Amino acid sequence: MKKILILLLTALLLLGLTACGEDGSETTGSTPEATKPHTHDYTGEVTTAATCDKEGVKTFTCACGDSYTEKIDATGEHTWGNWKTETEALIGRDGTQTRTCSACAAAESRRTTEGALQNSFGEYGIERLMEHWPVENGWAQEVPLQEEAIRGFMLLHFVSAQYNGPDRTDEEFTISFDAVVEFLSPYFYITESIKAEMKQDYRYDAATDRFNLNYPGSGLNMDVRGYVHNGGNRYTVYYYTETPYFDYPSYWKVEIEFLLPEGQPNKYLSIIRIPELPENITK
Ligand SMILES: [Zn+2]
Ligand SMILES: [Zn+2]
Repeated sequence: MKKILILLLTALLLLGLTACGEDGSETTGSTPEATKPHTHDYTGEVTTAATCDKEGVKTFTCACGDSYTEKIDATGEHTWGNWKTETEALIGRDGTQTRTCSACAAAESRRTTEGALQNSFGEYGIERLMEHWPVENGWAQEVPLQEEAIRGFMLLHFVSAQYNGPDRTDEEFTISFDAVVEFLSPYFYITESIKAEMKQDYRYDAATDRFNLNYPGSGLNMDVRGYVHNGGNRYTVYYYTETPYFDYPSYWKVEIEFLLPEGQPNKYLSIIRIPELPENITK
């Protein structure tokens, strides 16, 4: 009898324990959310931009961490930089320009006539011969109309402004007669009368056979307005100048030997102030 009681109690205890355990497993086991299917919600973002010749990548990401990528087609459009001049355009010869893509190695070139007039005839220096006649009674004089401006004293203006050789140490300098002629010869035909005129200039010192020159300064703006080709390397070039010193229209007719290739200066045959530009010039 006592044995049976113990067995019953044990059985009851076991039942109770089992019931407890089942209760616990029910509360922690099956949450309702875990069994529902998750719907991804992707947000797309360009992670590698496409360029002219390379595909890009767009990455789509869900908040759950899942992601996938899609390719973006190459744009096929180069990102061109500015045109850069390789060879300057000159009258009678096209120049070349190139530009490159900043995203790939692509490059292209083109021919151009841009700037040809200025590149050919806009050589600095000759505006010195267009500036004014030397000082007279304290005043610089207008260059007279229809008068040749390539005169000894005008050439000394040119040397003052342009000479940069060994004799020049400062804005003021002295230079030998022979050095002046040598310097001028590529630009002008130095005739005996021009030589004589230079020797009569107040800047010439006969005792030393040297000139005392100084930088003359200039306020002149020079534009090339057009030209006429006279055959071979001969051109008539028309200029306009503006000066703060004189209030008169300054048009100029300049006969030039245009000496290709580059690196050689143009040679000036005559420089004459004219009242107005002729019609029918090439611009
Ligand atoms: Zn997701
Ligand atoms: Zn490119």
